[in-house]
Amino acid sequence: MDLDKRQRAMLREMGVRLWQPPPAAGLAPVADAIHTVAVGARPTRAEDRFDTETAPVRAPAPAATPAGRPVPAQAPVSRLAPGLQPRPSGVELMDWPALQAAVTGCRACALCESRKNTVFGIGPTAADGAAPQVDWLIVGEAPGENEDLAGEPFVGQAGKLLDNMLLAMGLQRGSDDTTPRAGVSRNVFITNVLKCRPPANRNPDPAEVAQCEPYLKRQVELLQPKMILALGKFAAQSLLQDSVPELQKIPLGKLRGQVFHYLGVPVVVSYHPAYLLRSLGDKAKAWDDLCLAMSVAPTVVRSA
Ligand code: URA
Repeated sequence: MDLDKRQRAMLREMGVRLWQPPPAAGLAPVADAIHTVAVGARPTRAEDRFDTETAPVRAPAPAATPAGRPVPAQAPVSRLAPGLQPRPSGVELMDWPALQAAVTGCRACALCESRKNTVFGIGPTAADGAAPQVDWLIVGEAPGENEDLAGEPFVGQAGKLLDNMLLAMGLQRGSDDTTPRAGVSRNVFITNVLKCRPPANRNPDPAEVAQCEPYLKRQVELLQPKMILALGKFAAQSLLQDSVPELQKIPLGKLRGQVFHYLGVPVVVSYHPAYLLRSLGDKAKAWDDLCLAMSVAPTVVRSA
């Protein structure tokens, strides 16, 4: 394989070696993990849930429209448990600070009972009332324990890998108290489908996803990124449910290598970093996905 300097650097940042790594001792083969999930066992360790990258969704099958498209489950307001409230109204008209405040105060599903913090996302600070100016939006699944404590997405081991993937693309997460490396910009916002942590790191529930989706949608509308990278099954399903028929039946691997659209923004699907930590052989495929995304939306190095 002919690789130029940048590509080699990219692989190095992602921890991809140019030779085939031997299988890591002690790790369950992905097929076993899929089997475990398929027979109904719920993984509980922080990152185990991402072994389900290619597994069918285990949540109850959503209703289908006449065209066969899955309809996201709606949490019926009338059945909200005591202490829960409907999602704040007018999310679709909110500006960035209002949206942030709505997420912080959200009590629209039971996750608000167990969360320590909501996790809105991280990116460069914007002028008063404006959304950050970013070309890239990274969408993960949901906060885990570390993210719940920190109030910031992707701060654990998977986050370290994500940071390295971003660095390889010339991007750095946007907290303003760090100096960006030379040639690297903060041209990226990182968020999740769910803004609150599912207890015991279980998979998001369809009703939780449905309650949270308007927040992600408004984030996309306000950020107007040039590219969305959907990391993992839940991000892909949230963003593509209206544009890909029979989406629930398509394994994540089959969604790779294509450019979809969400609200007119190109979307490239890749593996979740937590999955990549356990499936080293797929890191090279994730690198291909980043290359595809960059070929569609070349990274603009901006000083933020
Ligand atoms: N996994 C995610 O999908 N998001 C996070 O923020 C952390 C882990």
